[in-house]
Amino acid sequence: MREASYAGQTPRFRALLYYSDYVEEAHRQFTHQAISFFDKLTVGDGWILEADTSLLEKGDLSQYDVIIMPDVHPGTPEERTLFEHYMEHGGGWLGFHAAAYNDLSTGWDWFRDFLGGGRFLCNTWPPQPALLEVETQEHDITRNLPEEFVCPSSEFYQWQPDPRLNPDIEVLVSLSPKNFPMGLKDVVFGGDFPVVWTNTRYRMIYLNMGHGDECFTSATQNLLFINSLRWVVSQSPSGNPFER
Ligand code: ZN
Repeated sequence: MREASYAGQTPRFRALLYYSDYVEEAHRQFTHQAISFFDKLTVGDGWILEADTSLLEKGDLSQYDVIIMPDVHPGTPEERTLFEHYMEHGGGWLGFHAAAYNDLSTGWDWFRDFLGGGRFLCNTWPPQPALLEVETQEHDITRNLPEEFVCPSSEFYQWQPDPRLNPDIEVLVSLSPKNFPMGLKDVVFGGDFPVVWTNTRYRMIYLNMGHGDECFTSATQNLLFINSLRWVVSQSPSGNPFER
């Protein structure tokens, strides 16, 4: 057994949470709760969390070990170029829910490829809890999770083409087929709904959760969020900050 590694006076890593003030109310609720959730995890100054609505004022993005996006992705050409450069040079990304939303009007091919190639196809409605299947416990972010769990209320997206078909994509969690038919307004009768995945060409995790004010009410799901943050940061090209 290794001895515990206690942080000294230096925070282990630095994160930027990039969000927008101009999103639908249910996404704003999630973002506000996400800022509180992650900020609480900095207790003891173990790491630094900054929250901002712009990437342009932040200087060199490589100072951040991870960029967290709870509700949007960069919208302007300048911010998109910065983000692409950051990710193509070892950057880390933790994206939730609408941060991945893209359709024919998005006009950002790099980002769609980064996510695995899928455009938004359809969603479940209204938001509701769902049974999730943990597809592998071999990955660091799922190793200590049960094989199935009911997650708090959220809106689930389906993508076309399915990111699972992309050999670079590893799906870690998905909607269990036991949920179907699902929905009271928009009823989904089946199909593949990947919920958490990574693109193995990048240091990234995408999580579909992020709609409404209930997303942080599950200890199991909170653990998944913390595991995801920790894993992205642990893969840093400058070394795993948790092994120092
Ligand atoms: Zn939503």
